[in-house]
Amino acid sequence: MEAIVSLCKRRGFVFPSSEIYGGINGFFDYGPLGAELKKNIRDCWWSDLVRRRDDVVGLESSIIMHPKVWEASGHVAGFTDPLVDCKVSKQRFRADQLFFAPVVVDDQIVGYVSLLETASTAADLQAAAESFKRKKAIQGKLAPVQPRDMTEAKPEEIALIPSPATGEAGSLTPPRAFNMMFQTYVGALRDESAVSYLRPETAQGMFADFKNVVDTGRVKLPFGIAQIGKSFRNEITPRNFIFRSREFEQMEMEYFIHEDADWAQCHREWINWCKDWLKSIGLPDSHLSEYDHPKEKLAFYSKGTTDIMFRYPFGVQELWGIAARGNYDLSQHAQHSGKPLEIFDEVTKKKFTPHVIEPAVGVDRIFLALICAAYAEEDVPDDKGNVEKRTVLRFSPRIAPVKVAVLPLIKNKPELVARAQEIYRRLKRKYAVFYDEGGAIGRRYRRQDEIGTPWCVTIDFETIERDGSFTLRERDSMQQRRITEAELFTLLDEQVY
Ligand code: ATP
Repeated sequence: MEAIVSLCKRRGFVFPSSEIYGGINGFFDYGPLGAELKKNIRDCWWSDLVRRRDDVVGLESSIIMHPKVWEASGHVAGFTDPLVDCKVSKQRFRADQLFFAPVVVDDQIVGYVSLLETASTAADLQAAAESFKRKKAIQGKLAPVQPRDMTEAKPEEIALIPSPATGEAGSLTPPRAFNMMFQTYVGALRDESAVSYLRPETAQGMFADFKNVVDTGRVKLPFGIAQIGKSFRNEITPRNFIFRSREFEQMEMEYFIHEDADWAQCHREWINWCKDWLKSIGLPDSHLSEYDHPKEKLAFYSKGTTDIMFRYPFGVQELWGIAARGNYDLSQHAQHSGKPLEIFDEVTKKKFTPHVIEPAVGVDRIFLALICAAYAEEDVPDDKGNVEKRTVLRFSPRIAPVKVAVLPLIKNKPELVARAQEIYRRLKRKYAVFYDEGGAIGRRYRRQDEIGTPWCVTIDFETIERDGSFTLRERDSMQQRRITEAELFTLLDEQVY
């Protein structure tokens, strides 16, 4: 992760927000290349889901909605995470990410160890228990640790569990519910009647606008309403770089189906669609897995939730949640607003409230997954055959922030430069292109490798003296071949779609 975070900063993908003022925890800025990469993720999703399908329409709803939306959705009462305070350090932890275990030696509990969730929590807690035993010079046989998180701690255990901040027991509070919605006031008054919220998800926009879309959108069941936009959650512990932040972007869809439709099959189809889409933008199958939420942990209205998980450097974590939510959301809004949100069934001549399948994903989590999967350091021969290190981002051409770099072989040959500029301008009309004439050609290739540019074209003497073709250099194979301008446009057209 360190190498990735540093590359993101160095090459202008991601910066800490407000860095000149010391930063603000849980907020990030996307630099010139990051903004391009993010836009490509959004554009691919929108094209593949909204434009290329006949059964999905788009929406852009407001970020601040009527506060009653969040009462109806259950967010005011229940959008909480369990919070544990450390009274000494004043640090706060998410209880379900703070793990502990009793240290058991010869069947006796001799103390407790704790830590914040890692990629290998159980092994790390075991090591902590061994170290505890060693430091206290306790003799006997240490039992394998049984990790639990703080939501599972018994009241009498809480005082015995050390705080991860201080290493001492006695300062942790029992878990309590912490509402993650950011509050604000709309209008000049600052009283209870003016309280509103920054949306913690985009999904409620699709439910609140359901009737408007049905009345105007020429949609017929089954159909989806999709939206991309910022969401805000006052996360207790934002962490793992942009994986969990307080302001992030979501791409969500509500896919409405008939109440009698086979929801399980539809759910499966959407899980498959999401996985295939992730692969189409370059995430390797080997890093993806599925996690079915256990029935007993689902909300009462939920029929099933499956998360597509990604193997990040800090562990296997949720990337995309696909939930079968029944007709809960529409029914709630119908009840709270007093406006029926139903569809007329032409066959049975009855009205009913559609059910919904909801695939919800974070753009920032996809962004991070793409960089993690694309990042490689490798030994390669330089121009003189010596081995050197190259850092490369193997982005798929679909999402690479720069598609082609145009490089005149040397910069003090006006005809070369003029021809290179001409090609650059023509490519730029359609694609994100980079023009670079500074430094040795090998170094310029490396700079493009590091930002994931799939192709470089070099305008050399053959270009101007012979047939106008130029050298195409491929990022992954580092192979070079001659290519004409028409062939280059065909290549791009096929690969960048
Ligand atoms: P988690 O359990 O990781 O907090 P969640 O189950 O609460 O996530 P959802 O409410 O299902 O997440 O949100 C849908 C998607 O939005 C997630 O799968 C994730 O990709 C993204 N997401 C949620 N919270 C954050 C966050 N704080 N930062 C970045 N992305 C997020």
